[in-house]
Amino acid sequence: MDYFDYRENELWAEEIRVSDLARQFGTPLYVYSARTLRRHVNVFDEALAGLDHLTCFSVKANGNIHILRLLGSMGSGVDIVSGGELFRAIMAGIPPAKIVYSGVGKQDHEIREALAANILMFNVESVAELERISQIATEMGAVARISLRINPDVDPKTHPYISTGLKKNKFGLDMLEATGAYLMAKKLPAVSPIGMDCHIGSQLTQIDPFVETLEKLLAFIDRLKTSGIDIRYLDLGGGLGITYDEETPPQPADLGRVVAEAVRERGLTVILEPGRAIAGNAGILVTKVLYTKKTRAKNFIIVDAAMNDLVRPSLYGAYHHIGEVAPKKRKKLKVDVVGPICESSDFLAQDRLLPEVASGELLAIFSAGAYGFAMSSQYNARPRAAEVIVDAEQITLARRRETYGDLVALEG
Ligand SMILES: *Cc1c(COP(=O)(O)O)cnc(C)c1O
Repeated sequence: MDYFDYRENELWAEEIRVSDLARQFGTPLYVYSARTLRRHVNVFDEALAGLDHLTCFSVKANGNIHILRLLGSMGSGVDIVSGGELFRAIMAGIPPAKIVYSGVGKQDHEIREALAANILMFNVESVAELERISQIATEMGAVARISLRINPDVDPKTHPYISTGLKKNKFGLDMLEATGAYLMAKKLPAVSPIGMDCHIGSQLTQIDPFVETLEKLLAFIDRLKTSGIDIRYLDLGGGLGITYDEETPPQPADLGRVVAEAVRERGLTVILEPGRAIAGNAGILVTKVLYTKKTRAKNFIIVDAAMNDLVRPSLYGAYHHIGEVAPKKRKKLKVDVVGPICESSDFLAQDRLLPEVASGELLAIFSAGAYGFAMSSQYNARPRAAEVIVDAEQITLARRRETYGDLVALEG
């Protein structure tokens, strides 16, 4: 559900014409809908109503500080995976007591920064990391609250690049290793094991992998209790899928029901780390048609956005719906929508049925609010796109378009 819709034969972002935004800010342009973001936060809150819970938005999906500020103002926390994301979160005013820190490769300085900020907890992914955190916390005279990230060996049935809860993945500890690590953590003076965490993958479109994971984790929590380890926070990670094409992923309410049933009476605080489900459908990428080109093999629409702006199609073969900003009735053609970058992997859609558009027209690439700008680069010396947030009639420039000067600014 989002607030991008067609009225008067034009695409609107809430109360603003997308064509007006393109005129004012140029293209390619990321446009976010504040109302959609707020709605998604509320849906997660309602899904876990009645339970002690915290929604920790995954900063890596979209780290723009205006967006983090908006989510923070609604009471959301964040899940971070780097010191840079900690910096962004603090800049955006997210209370450290609502920050959890995941990732397999936390560096010493990042651990120090997170301890200094006094974040809620570290989601620890290896015994070596546990030892390092303990050592640094001891040096700082601090106590690190931790949870262990469990790799439950559950198949999330998603793209292999975004599956994280299988035995062969680099993430987390299996339960046998984790048992030893919890016992070790309990003895370490500067570490306080208070949580259990997992994140089995992204763009999950079925509920079963969540259910299977939840059952495994709760049984594990019970076993740990007999060893005197009292888990108070259960962090189920992110991963709820969204509709890019025709997927029908479980709704946050479905997940909430499953979790509430299993967790009630246990006195656990439940943490979820949604990224895509909050931001994905809250953003579009607006692009201008530069040229159309017919070869003997294919029809191409060449646009001014490219894989450096939105890499998901190139990286995962991901589908993004593409529509005209000002639809007209005309013949449809099977086309590849491609960017100007010098790589054949630079495509935004392949073999897609689209109206025969002309150069100068605008297209909207939908569901681009998560892992869109966040994964963008300056490849081919292309300044990164601007980002705007629309809130009813109000427009905020959330990040100005980069300039040629920005391209070389750090090169002395
Ligand atoms: C990426 C990630 C998330 C967010 O995943 P979504 O699929 O965007 O909800 C949450 N937790 C961790 C640890 C992650 O790495």
